[in-house]
Amino acid sequence: MSTTATPFTATVLGSPRIGPNRELKRAVENYWAGRTDRAGLESIAAQLRRETWQTLAAAGLDSIPVNTFSYYDQMLDTAVLVGALPPRVCSIADELDRYFAAARGDDETAPLEMTKWFDTNYHYLVPEIGPHTTFALNPAKVLGEVEEAVTLGIPARPVIVGPITFLALAKAVDGGGTPIDRLDELVGVYAELLDVLAARGVRWVQFDEPVLVTDFLGNAPELAERVYGRLGALGHRPALFVATYFGALADALPALARTPVDAIGIDLVAGDSPAFVSVPELADKLVVAGVVDGRNVWRTDLAGALGKLTGLLGSAGAVAVSTSCSTLHVPYTLDGEVELDAALRSWLAFGAEKVTEVAALARGLKDGREAISAEIADSDAAVASRKADSRLRNGRIRARITSIVGSGAKRGPAAARRAVQAERLKLPALPTTTIGSYPQTTAIRVARADLRAGRIDAAEYERRMKAEIADVIALQERLGLDVLVHGEPERNDMVQYFAEQLDGFFATQNGWVQSYGSRCVRPPILYGDVSRPEPMTVEWISYAQSLTDKPVKGMLTGPVTILAWSFVRDDQPLADTAFQVALAIRDETVDLESAGIAIIQVDEPALRELLPLRTKDKDAYLRWAVEAFRLATSGVADTTQIHTHLCYSEFGEVIGAIADLDADVTSIEAARSHMEVLGDLNQAGFANSVGPGVYDIHSPRVPGVDEIAASLREALRAVPAERLWVNPDCGLKTRSTDEVTASLQHLVAAAAEVRAG
Ligand code: GLN
Ligand code: ZN
Repeated sequence: MSTTATPFTATVLGSPRIGPNRELKRAVENYWAGRTDRAGLESIAAQLRRETWQTLAAAGLDSIPVNTFSYYDQMLDTAVLVGALPPRVCSIADELDRYFAAARGDDETAPLEMTKWFDTNYHYLVPEIGPHTTFALNPAKVLGEVEEAVTLGIPARPVIVGPITFLALAKAVDGGGTPIDRLDELVGVYAELLDVLAARGVRWVQFDEPVLVTDFLGNAPELAERVYGRLGALGHRPALFVATYFGALADALPALARTPVDAIGIDLVAGDSPAFVSVPELADKLVVAGVVDGRNVWRTDLAGALGKLTGLLGSAGAVAVSTSCSTLHVPYTLDGEVELDAALRSWLAFGAEKVTEVAALARGLKDGREAISAEIADSDAAVASRKADSRLRNGRIRARITSIVGSGAKRGPAAARRAVQAERLKLPALPTTTIGSYPQTTAIRVARADLRAGRIDAAEYERRMKAEIADVIALQERLGLDVLVHGEPERNDMVQYFAEQLDGFFATQNGWVQSYGSRCVRPPILYGDVSRPEPMTVEWISYAQSLTDKPVKGMLTGPVTILAWSFVRDDQPLADTAFQVALAIRDETVDLESAGIAIIQVDEPALRELLPLRTKDKDAYLRWAVEAFRLATSGVADTTQIHTHLCYSEFGEVIGAIADLDADVTSIEAARSHMEVLGDLNQAGFANSVGPGVYDIHSPRVPGVDEIAASLREALRAVPAERLWVNPDCGLKTRSTDEVTASLQHLVAAAAEVRAG
């Protein structure tokens, strides 16, 4: 190990930064709106950093991550660090303005693209690497945070996205080659950084390389050995800790272990059991063992975790206790959750509680199990209570799933369904529709706030929502759309709305986590067996249908999407949980059908999101995801038309699964990919109806009639008219009523023009 390095014993890989009460969110939003000045923003940021570090130190951690603070995103911070911002923002002289322009764009500048950070719900900004990119070190932020921390007496360990991960997640622009081909060049900048950090007296540095647990690159082990062989061999550097998380390292572990780095972080929650660590080269390394789940909300089984840790002692030079990944992905603390019942509370650990677990485990590892016998007893009691709780095993639900799945959960052949549905619905060719939501008007927001504050009662709230529904139905009638929707005014969020009505879910009061930039979400916690005590949407949809002779689509969220946007129980396979959610959705479809609803849409925008990081695991996932959708949608007669909707993703790897969902109609984001998705669907053997989005709802621009007509004609080259639907890309809730009205007018006119030939 490097001479300056004393191994640490207890840490986390990173922590949340948005603030325990979303202080950073408010501060940056106020700054953007001109309500706070630079100094105000910086002082709130500095205070949040200080509080974070001091809390971690007080809890007993002896190495504290710094530089995990960010005004927006750690990948963007890394792009700044290595001089890889796109040229279009480089003319902006002020550094912070340039940073925010890259993140959010401005009148003249397009922002960087955003996409999901591995399989989490955090979104990062995608660095652009092109011929113009000339890497150059710009360490001001890292050094600033190190200095701040050292002044406070904090044992600071700067955290930086590693070079392999940075380039693997970047995108090539302007005809530049594959970003990863620039690795050796970029590593030069990291080498310089190590030199600068060593000169400042930094003892430990953490480079995050989560990409090593994926199959994104074909040759991850080889790259790991090359990069860390080179960086590890540097004479003047801090001790080097390479952190990996979100899965098992497989062949990248021995490769990394052969390099002269000082510490390797291994995810022992999502990854392997410790038995694999029989790599001889680990004998002189510090293994940073991620035994406390950093991305889910469950309390750690301390006895089990201590067992894993002691199991490592024989093979590693030293062992430190850690969370499996940054706690960025979980809420700050259970403290404010006063509505939790005692049992449920005892099963949970948010960020602060996880830090306490890490510290306890480190004490147990050092002083023996007896030193933490009280903590272990508590944790054992929680484990036992969770196992015994009747809410976690509903025999009736489980039996129903077995019997429905056993009997095949099948609908009739697709072509036969199409025939009977055509007979029933009598729709024109190229039917026009929308995806579900209409603009969230001020009236809707006010009504929701009034209800929450007790200024109006439930009956008045319902009256106001019905008025919104009536407006939206009237608007669609005026526009001449063929299949109407109720507009979703009553839904705060397409997952939370259902979670609040299903048994087995708990909605937190303050469980916010950063989704991207200043945007936070509050995922519900799915803790038990899921069931539907009563119908969830039938009243609203029936009301909407009572106002019109045109068909109104029932609107539901699919099982995979509900799982993807919740914290999900970890005590059974995800598939089992998905089937339970699917059964609840199935019950809802049956009730909608009985109420006379002829078309039901089950949205699965998150189908791609849960795709495993390793190729070998993908098929199994797609199999159960499809099966869950079919379970949810096969309870209705062939005369009921099932729609689904997908968006926000590259569909490539899941295109076969989309076809297998076998929905009667699939609306799919396509405006930005110029209809390529239709060819892909054809190739996957898809022969049902499809509504490729004909305009992009993410932009305020109103598309022209000609432009939409041209898209439709392009679509008709791939799909015959009797299978083609006409709709926007996604829901309309973020747009204004004026934009929506104008865009849909053009959409209806374009459909009429193309129908006429
Ligand atoms: N039905 C939802 C809506 O229109 C679908 C949203 C989504 O695709 N994310 O808002
Ligand atoms: Zn969508």
